[in-house]
Amino acid sequence: MSVTQTGLKGAARSVCVGWRDMVSQIRDAAELSSQLHGIDGKGYGAYKSISGKYRVGDFILCIDYVQGDPYAAPSKLRVQLDMETAGFPLDIYGNIDRKVGLEDYLLRAFDWFISREVKGHRGSGKSGLIAVDSPGQEVIQRTGVKVSPSRVEVRLVAGLPARGRRVLGYQAEKMLLGELPRVAQGALFYSRLNADNLWRFVLNKENSAELRRELCRRKAVAFVADRAILPRRSGISEEPMSTAQAVPFESPPSLRTEIPLANGGSVSGMLIPEGVTLIVGGGYHGKSTLLDALDRGIYDHVPDDGRERVVTLPQAVKIRAEDGRQVTGVDISFFISDLPNSVDTTAFWTPSASGSTSQAANIMEALEMGAEVLLVDEDTSATNFMVRDMRMQKLVSSDREPITPFIDRVRQLYEEKGVSTVLVVGGSGDYFDVADTVIMMDHYRPVDVTRRARAIAKENPTGRVRESAARLGGVRHRYPDPKSIDPTRKGKVRIRDRGLTTVEFGSENIELDQVEQLVDVSQTRAVGQIIEYARKYLPECSIREALQRVEEDLDEQGLDIISPFSGHPGDFARPRMMEVAAALNRLRSLRLLQGR
Ligand code: ADP
Ligand code: MG
Repeated sequence: MSVTQTGLKGAARSVCVGWRDMVSQIRDAAELSSQLHGIDGKGYGAYKSISGKYRVGDFILCIDYVQGDPYAAPSKLRVQLDMETAGFPLDIYGNIDRKVGLEDYLLRAFDWFISREVKGHRGSGKSGLIAVDSPGQEVIQRTGVKVSPSRVEVRLVAGLPARGRRVLGYQAEKMLLGELPRVAQGALFYSRLNADNLWRFVLNKENSAELRRELCRRKAVAFVADRAILPRRSGISEEPMSTAQAVPFESPPSLRTEIPLANGGSVSGMLIPEGVTLIVGGGYHGKSTLLDALDRGIYDHVPDDGRERVVTLPQAVKIRAEDGRQVTGVDISFFISDLPNSVDTTAFWTPSASGSTSQAANIMEALEMGAEVLLVDEDTSATNFMVRDMRMQKLVSSDREPITPFIDRVRQLYEEKGVSTVLVVGGSGDYFDVADTVIMMDHYRPVDVTRRARAIAKENPTGRVRESAARLGGVRHRYPDPKSIDPTRKGKVRIRDRGLTTVEFGSENIELDQVEQLVDVSQTRAVGQIIEYARKYLPECSIREALQRVEEDLDEQGLDIISPFSGHPGDFARPRMMEVAAALNRLRSLRLLQGR
């Protein structure tokens, strides 16, 4: 009996259901053991016979899917433990933040015990592997562990061992009945875990989620705690820079606020108010590092990350130029109109956008999805999109320039739409005219220079004229043609990640390397599945409505629902719908329904 990895979601579901009924009976560990002895030395396919559920000590071991070959994708397993036996008090998973925190902690604990107890390599291909989907610096809802009042369940993968393609039954026994129970013993009992660490982890997650909710009440877009460590170890490591090197964050007195924490105590730090905020300062003084911390502030972080008390409104979006990307029917006329060849910019389509048109499209798509804050760094912006100074305005008159630069629109975004902007600018003081708050980074320390910037602006008029005052109006919602979102290739559904920044979707690769707030490869995996899941709400819904419905489904039914393996949804992390929309927007086959 086995579940074959069929590409067709519906088919996979029905196979799983039938198969589940058949094996709902739980067998003894001794039976698994004698079966493994019995197939030792046989062809690899003999492993298929061990599918099923077994009682192994306190645990139930579910062998959900058996790989067909030692080199193929590994087998899928679950370990279950009754909550009563596991002993976690209800209080530690009593709300969604704590539950996500506990699940995440258990996943990390399981992973840690794997590295201690599992020998690893035991033959050809993936033989000997035992792995869970282990998290990084962020604490995100994941499918790797599921906690409920009735039980704790860990979803993992294992490489059933072989020499060449011959079953190594005795080695498999060591893995499944020796190593795996030892890992679970270490990781899944409340009484055996370090309760102080566990509670600290869970309450840390809850505290930062609450802190983020507090932003809204205080009409602020972000908060950066005093003593936060913002810089990372290196360009390829998300771990904090060592405390010996890093200059801890210290808020300027005028922006310092003390906020009570959900679980007692309080935290002081810099509160960035709504409106238009500039981060200025000399090169290499820490501007981009601060902005990066803000763009990650939509996520909760692990204790000691350095950014665990750095939070940003949940719908804050990093905006950048991204030349070469496709744009599908986006109304960018707020920024760009009258392109040569009378290209229509109210439904702008191009297979390869320029720096400025891509940045305009990124903003309009973010607004379409309900962005509350735009995070913009000059390092990754198109210069001509950001500003046109007085001299350039004189030389190239505005009837020859299709772009209304961001400087002439940023206040409108706030005043008409309530969308705030935090902008890193080292190069253009013209922006002083439109800013509410100006923060200067000086040797990695923020200084509130709002007054000085205003005074300078007053004494030194830029001589610029505002290029357009037309109102933004409503953001146009787009209705995709479901036929243009095809996850199949050669008749089979094919959706998978190719690392953090690429989703293979049908016969296309969706490139997400410029979508900076996608932070975990398990989110990337989920993005592809969510696009597929969202198709059921098309063509009736716009992109925004369809993804809102998906969000509601995920809130109500959990992240497991996006998995094509109903028996084992083990390696997804929840992305924002903002990033799912970003992926859909980068699907080159995407077409819109006409006339909607
Ligand atoms: P800018 O955008 O102002 O040019 P960056 O933010 O890129 O500067 O920072 C320049 C360098 O300084 C980076 O290598 C970064 O890791 C480091 N850095 C940033 N903030 C700090 C800090 N608080 N303490 C120590 N080093 C820092
Ligand atoms: Mg920079």
